[in-house]
Amino acid sequence: ARTAAHDAQERLQRLSRIHSLEGLTTSIAHEINQPLAAIVTSGHACRRWMEQDPPNLDKARQAIHRILGDVDRASGIITRVRNLTKGAPASTRPFVFNAAVREVLALSQAELQRQAIALRADLADALPLALADSVQIQQVVANLLRNAMEASAAMDVPRRSILLETLLVDDKIVLRVSDRGPGLPAGAQEKVFDAFWTTKHEGMGVGLSISRSMVEANGGHIWAEPRAPGGAVFAFSVPVAQEEAAV
Ligand code: ADP
Repeated sequence: ARTAAHDAQERLQRLSRIHSLEGLTTSIAHEINQPLAAIVTSGHACRRWMEQDPPNLDKARQAIHRILGDVDRASGIITRVRNLTKGAPASTRPFVFNAAVREVLALSQAELQRQAIALRADLADALPLALADSVQIQQVVANLLRNAMEASAAMDVPRRSILLETLLVDDKIVLRVSDRGPGLPAGAQEKVFDAFWTTKHEGMGVGLSISRSMVEANGGHIWAEPRAPGGAVFAFSVPVAQEEAAV
């Protein structure tokens, strides 16, 4: 019973880490909005002091001082986020890649159903073990899947389908997520991975940038391709563990 309880607890912790990317983006938005709002307030105040006749330079100077302080605060937040996603992977160990992917899929079922999105998983047989931080890799998979769901949800129901594949390419495990959504914004194949680059009304544009940091910290690559005849493909690679093999 104790083992079962321990397993359940460990699973819970893993789940909350997979979902923490969403929490992270929300909290960055929240934290950055505060200094931004303060900058706007001080900017307006500054203009009022300048427009007075005669201008109150002393007050205007104070407002500019507050603005510079808030700019420092905002860039401090960004530095913290960057440090958070840099650094060495937390724990690099061999793991069964497809099993990790299935866990993420299981977590996404409810949302897929809610949005009437059909998902097909085509997972390669007999992949070697992956060598990476499995939780970070799961976060990346969850993020690509969430983007594919958001892209699909913009389409009519018959076009809401996602294909998730795993395969072995040149000694690396590759995961591909293809959707039939609106496709990549023109000329943005590389830009989508930049921090704070977003085309979504409520988007933060940090998901893919964090995903890229994580994949590269684990020795892999991440890329995007247009999908013919419409939609997008996002893929990343992960190194395999030498010696052992598993199904
Ligand atoms: P966000 O989802 O908050 O915008 P991301 O970094 O995850 O941040 O994505 C950045 C941008 O990349 C999105 O705003 C969108 O323009 C584009 N993008 C990501 N995934 C897809 C996809 N599956 N299909 C089309 N465009 C996508």
